[in-house]
Amino acid sequence: MSEKCDFGLIGLAVMGENLALNVESRGNRIAVYNRSTDKVDRLMEGRAKGKNFVGCHSIEELVGSLKKPRLVMTLVKAGEAVDDLIEQLLPHMEPGDVIIDGGNEHYTNTERRTKYVESKGLLYVGAGVSGGEEGALKGPSLMPGGSPAAWPLIKPIFQAISAKVGPNDDIPCCEWVGPRGAGHYVKMVHNGIEYGDMQLICEAYQILKEVGGLSNDELYDVFEDWNNGDLQSYLIEITRDIFSAKDDQPDGQGYLVDQILDVAGAKGTGKWMSQLALDLGVPSTLVTTAVYARGLSAVKEARQRASKVLQGPQTGDNPEFAAGVSKLAGDKKAFVEAVRKALYASKICSYAQGFVQLQAASEEHDWGLNYGDCALLWRGGCIIRAKFLDRIKEAFDEQPKLENLLLYPFFKNIIDESQAAWRAVIIAATQLGVPTPAFSAALGYYDSYRRERLPANLLQAQRDYFGAHTYKRVDREGTFHSEWLELR
Ligand code: NAP
Repeated sequence: MSEKCDFGLIGLAVMGENLALNVESRGNRIAVYNRSTDKVDRLMEGRAKGKNFVGCHSIEELVGSLKKPRLVMTLVKAGEAVDDLIEQLLPHMEPGDVIIDGGNEHYTNTERRTKYVESKGLLYVGAGVSGGEEGALKGPSLMPGGSPAAWPLIKPIFQAISAKVGPNDDIPCCEWVGPRGAGHYVKMVHNGIEYGDMQLICEAYQILKEVGGLSNDELYDVFEDWNNGDLQSYLIEITRDIFSAKDDQPDGQGYLVDQILDVAGAKGTGKWMSQLALDLGVPSTLVTTAVYARGLSAVKEARQRASKVLQGPQTGDNPEFAAGVSKLAGDKKAFVEAVRKALYASKICSYAQGFVQLQAASEEHDWGLNYGDCALLWRGGCIIRAKFLDRIKEAFDEQPKLENLLLYPFFKNIIDESQAAWRAVIIAATQLGVPTPAFSAALGYYDSYRRERLPANLLQAQRDYFGAHTYKRVDREGTFHSEWLELR
């Protein structure tokens, strides 16, 4: 009988195949299975040839080839496919075995499945996996949550295959996140923050291009420069590279980015985060704005029609202001620096919102999340990996109950230094009719959050006026209702 395997993996599309190769490359023997078994054969004949792989043509065969307690990970299309696979796995597995779902699953499904699988005596893990194809192969960010007893069983393999950070590249971007759906929730917030980051970068691009008049070559230099400073991150780095890519069509000329249709796709995790923020009553306005921005991009034909009818600001509407804008944009170096500051300040607001949502969700579901660890998990391997996550980790390590990242001295100081430029950039873009939905949402959040008093006094008065919804007073305890017409 052949040697038993350390790990089983089901689903050999982009993520599964690469993750399987990663697991094997760390000295593990791995069994793989895919519903369409030709993918198993192709892998065994191709990239897995000569490696420590066992190709299986049935679930039973896969489970039978594993050491006990068995660790089986599914990396398939989220939703029903995972439920189907759990049902197929259960009859062949034993109490103490572990089923791990590495897909982008809605956390409520993972909450439900953890309870269900545990009721059968097995352990369940919902693990967020981020980093795309390359991350899966070389080291993803992993966010496992579920049955706590599963963690010691999967930890050695999970931490070995994950990305590593730190001065000696030895701190794994993989830590136990919390019970039930906590891992998938953290992954969803990661994706929502990714939406915000991408939208903010796109707005910086449009401002630099349309207000500052920068060419793609100049944009390359700007992003190269930014990537060497505080904004250093994977998304800034790939954006830099995009500005240097030439059109690859045989008759193509110029840069590829200029030939790409301006219609954004989405797979839904940003929308989930937005919906759940609304459910929790927390203002995650950056992700929501980013989702809406993708939605507006998608109505291309309507925009084409509207562009022929609706006017933007006309030159000369406000000569004084136009002079101010051209002065700002006239000094290119200063303008680029102002946009950098606007981007950085907006990004801080976006992350502040993401962590507030995590705090609210953790409290609601009793997950006991460690926010410093969440920042660490995103420090390497994933799409939002960035230098500044070190600072977020520091902030939460120092103050585990930090109410809002904006209040942490390091981030407060950056906003203090950036806000004049941040406001000037939004004003300049607004005057020229260049949209800045996410920059403006971030500033709106900042200006609202820092106010002791908001105009909700009037709102409460309106609610009481038309619906007798009552209000509270600033000067005495209790609940009040007024007959507003009698008070005139
Ligand atoms: P995918 O395109 O999401 O899914 C394809 C895989 O799912 C195939 O192996 C397919 O098997 C299997 N599958 C679909 N329905 C099934 C069913 N009813 N029963 C059994 N297997 C079924 O693959 P992916 O892009 O590699 O992503 C896998 C998971 O990781 C997804 O949840 C995705 O959201 C998540 N994820 C993806 C990325 C990424 O960059 N792609 C990054 C992070 C996370 P067949 O070959 O038989 O059709």
